[in-house]
Amino acid sequence: MKKKQFKAESKRLLDLMINSIYTNKEIFLRELISNASDAIDKLYYLSLTDRKVKLKKDDFKIRIELDKDNRTLTVTDNGIGMDKNELEKNLGTIAESGSLLFKTENEHKKDIDVIGQFGVGFYSAFMVADKISVTSKKYGSDEAYLWESDGADGYTIEKADYEAFGTKIVLKLKEDTDNYNYSEYLDEHHIDKIVKTYSNYITYPIIMNMTRNVLKDGSENEYEETHEDEILNSMVPIWKKNKKDVKEEDYNAFYKDTYHDYENPTRIITYNVEGKCSYKSLLFVPSHAPYDMYNKEYKKGLSLYSNGVLIMDKCEELLPDYFGFIKGLVDSEDISLNISREILQQDYQVKLIAESLEKKIKKELEAMLKDDRDKYDSFFKDFGMQLKFGIYNDFGAKKDLLKDLIMFYSSTEKKLVTLKEYISRMKKDQDKIYYACGETVDKVDLLPQVENIKDKGYEILYLTEYVDEFAVQMLVDYDNKKFVNICSENVDLDTDEEKKELENKNKESKDMFEVMREALSDELKEVKYTNKLKNHPVCLTTKGNVSIEMEKVINAMPTGEKINSEKVLEINENHPIVKKLEKLYKDDKESLKKYTKVLYAQARLIEGLPIDNPTEVTNLICDIMS
Ligand code: ADP
Repeated sequence: MKKKQFKAESKRLLDLMINSIYTNKEIFLRELISNASDAIDKLYYLSLTDRKVKLKKDDFKIRIELDKDNRTLTVTDNGIGMDKNELEKNLGTIAESGSLLFKTENEHKKDIDVIGQFGVGFYSAFMVADKISVTSKKYGSDEAYLWESDGADGYTIEKADYEAFGTKIVLKLKEDTDNYNYSEYLDEHHIDKIVKTYSNYITYPIIMNMTRNVLKDGSENEYEETHEDEILNSMVPIWKKNKKDVKEEDYNAFYKDTYHDYENPTRIITYNVEGKCSYKSLLFVPSHAPYDMYNKEYKKGLSLYSNGVLIMDKCEELLPDYFGFIKGLVDSEDISLNISREILQQDYQVKLIAESLEKKIKKELEAMLKDDRDKYDSFFKDFGMQLKFGIYNDFGAKKDLLKDLIMFYSSTEKKLVTLKEYISRMKKDQDKIYYACGETVDKVDLLPQVENIKDKGYEILYLTEYVDEFAVQMLVDYDNKKFVNICSENVDLDTDEEKKELENKNKESKDMFEVMREALSDELKEVKYTNKLKNHPVCLTTKGNVSIEMEKVINAMPTGEKINSEKVLEINENHPIVKKLEKLYKDDKESLKKYTKVLYAQARLIEGLPIDNPTEVTNLICDIMS
């Protein structure tokens, strides 16, 4: 029979599995059992919703058989099964998620360590087997098919005789090597241990024929061997157990297996509610963002169970976007099994659950912030952006819920601080929250405007992510203290006397500023002196609601939308350049214009803005220099 080739990506993953140096090879069994359980879930669900399917919960099982003589390990399930097409599609190609694994050969070693993360599933069996045979019959069909592969060369599919429905997977185990004892997968006690470790909470019985030594009938010291089918797993889903009876490591193991993470979650949330809509939930805050978190394909959501029966894998309606990083499940007797995706959106019960979960998650995050700041810091580095988007989205509908969860870098504390903490440290006379924006903390720290305000002893929040200023503007204020961008015109830290003095000075130089502004009439709203600067000669500030940082963000968006902030060139009134400018205004207005262009270019550079005409500017500088 002609062999079919695996898709290119699948083939590389296969090579990786076949030559695997991954030490945790035993996870292959978890993957096969988990697939079997998923397949049974599907058929069980049908049995509850389709009257034609006459099966009871007790009918479903997963069976493991070991055959030492033939070196085979077999996993059989009576789940939904696969037809010919599905065998081809599901086992001939690997899921998209695996594609991340395909890097250069050198990187393979590293990749191997993250195998678990991507749940490469079925193919992991090639870590221990050199040949795999899958016989499957789709429920309700008369035809069964056999899919076979000895790895890299490809696979065959042919018709098969198979009475039952469901899937039987036979692994022909590899021969033992100096480094690895594959025969241990023929040892029932070892298999029993692996099942209990990784698959204890699978809700269908995992059955194996076990050999036990029992006392002979009527004897007190004579034993005989018996062989009996035993259920290896506890079968009670972990979320239905009493929290006291579950060890933290069990929750961790459940989390890692179910959500394909290689690290423990940073927080485990168990939450059971009795009331209008009763439910049990088990939620996890991951300790790091999954690799695909910010992909379009990333789907948030919690698994939704109706009294232990999985209705849907990722129910989006249960989680708002800003908590989209949460993993976990909800099990409720009050949710109908027949609920469809369409109805879900309007379902009253689902809404109730989502609302109460939102509050609970917020509380838990607050507790984490309070009790374990280091953990929260690292959580926030990975997921804080989502919280800030949450504040900005929907016209700020959720800003009150989220405002105490966000943090920004502080100029005085040199770490992330909450708004509450900022307020608590504010100076007596201070009635505003000062912030500055830039690409990185270091760059913000170098902004000319920052220096002076720091010197006056005010704390400044450094906003370094592009969503930050949008979130802050949506908040408007916190605890009645307005947010003020120190690079806007509105910063007002002077005494009345200082103000008056500056005002007069600006008035006196009005005509000179007009000449300067005309040199850059397309770009500048205004030129004026400032007392905000210490050492720097110039800075840019803005009038109106659009800040320079927002201009950058919006102009970088693929929508093609372009905006311009209303820029003001502010000149340090105490800088020596002032004398020069005033002299030029008297003697040489053309040179004054040149100087203005150069100063403006400097100010743009400091703000991280591009210069439209760099040739002109560099020529001007050379002019002035020579
Ligand atoms: P994943 O389980 O992550 O989707 P796998 O490679 O483990 O990836 O499996 C690929 C697909 O093959 C599954 O999504 C499922 O559709 C199908 N499959 C695997 N094992 C079984 C099984 N025992 N019964 C029915 N379908 C199965």
